[in-house]
Amino acid sequence: MLSVKEAESTILNLASSFDSNQNLEIVDLEAANGRILAQSVRGKLDIPHWNNSAMDGYAVCYRDVQNCSAEDPTILEVVTEIAAGDRPEIEIEPGQAARIFTGAMLPKSADTIVMQENTTREGDRVKILKAPESGEFVRHQGAFYQAGSPLLEAGVTIGAAEIAVLATAQCTQISVYRRPRVGILSTGDELVTPEESLHPGQIVDSNQYALASFVANNGGVPVMLGIVRDNPKELKNAISKAIGSTDIVLSTGGVSVGDYDYVDRILAELGGTLHVRSVAVKPGKPLTVANFKDNNCLYFGIPGNPVSALVSCWRFVRPALKKLAGNKRYHSQFINATTRHDLKSGGTRETYLWGQVHLVDGSYEFALAGGSHSSGNLINLAQTNGLAIVPVGQKLIASGKEVKIMLVD
Ligand code: AMP
Ligand code: MG
Repeated sequence: MLSVKEAESTILNLASSFDSNQNLEIVDLEAANGRILAQSVRGKLDIPHWNNSAMDGYAVCYRDVQNCSAEDPTILEVVTEIAAGDRPEIEIEPGQAARIFTGAMLPKSADTIVMQENTTREGDRVKILKAPESGEFVRHQGAFYQAGSPLLEAGVTIGAAEIAVLATAQCTQISVYRRPRVGILSTGDELVTPEESLHPGQIVDSNQYALASFVANNGGVPVMLGIVRDNPKELKNAISKAIGSTDIVLSTGGVSVGDYDYVDRILAELGGTLHVRSVAVKPGKPLTVANFKDNNCLYFGIPGNPVSALVSCWRFVRPALKKLAGNKRYHSQFINATTRHDLKSGGTRETYLWGQVHLVDGSYEFALAGGSHSSGNLINLAQTNGLAIVPVGQKLIASGKEVKIMLVD
């Protein structure tokens, strides 16, 4: 049995990031949201493109106004007016100023903006009542970005801010990694779909839907492969098809030590190399991870209990899926919080307890989900945004103490 750390590093080693040449798609800027940039982007223009004003006011030459004050104002001749979008034609001479508005291009030889609030206007003259700093309120050409240097690096997730950068740099065709295809199959004779009528002894296959949502939330394309019965032939057939058509396969059920748990044997028969068989974690101990070199496919055999299934996905599948997808920020995120409840564990496995983490007066607090903490209780898993971790060797983290939390979404 591997420790959580050992399992995590084994899995991350198996998940090699997509190649930016072979696994690339070109998408329009409008379709780039949420995608992972596959090649670094460089802009052709400085940003700002030219010196411009950060204020409504007057563009002046600093040396004309450096000594003025309310008692001894400098009076300048206003020779032109420049609005955002205008191209100033004239040069400011000593003793002159240009009326200027936010975002407008500075005229030649003006080097400083005096904000409107520090002036009074009389006809074509302006009185400067306060000496500005040299260069004040000028956004200088290239101050934010210099043409040709890297603008965004490969591996970043494209969101609103990155879209703004790409739009500004006039990058309209974006190289992104393709999304990994993730096959999802549920195993078990007891399973029916949410649409089917439920007979005594049967349960609804919730994992298929939960895992599809998980995959989509983490940059993958869920490929729902349905329910497969606990029949070795059927299962082998389904698994064989899955590994031939997807980048990652997630199957739930059939990986513990029950009489109907065939998954590990089938993976070996199909030529897979098993790297993980079980992990000292609760919930989710019977976790199988195998890879199929010929198919370039990573297989996760996940326990069937709905809580175990999602906790395994959050803890072990998510970093691997993100890494494969080219995302540079694939590691799990942890914070420290104060627990509002006692957190109990058997002490022999790293224990993950689900609940909610909130910011209270600037520090994080963790509240355990109410009700049973059975790994079959999917009901109180709803609204979980953090998993509190009780390390191996510890049986209790008492209410009021600090606990490490893994963030989930
Ligand atoms: P297994 O890992 O196959 O031994 O299943 C463990 C428990 O999880 C059993 O109580 C199953 O009925 C339940 N289970 C298995 N697969 C699913 C599924 N797809 N959706 C919901 N519960 C499941
Ligand atoms: Mg089963």
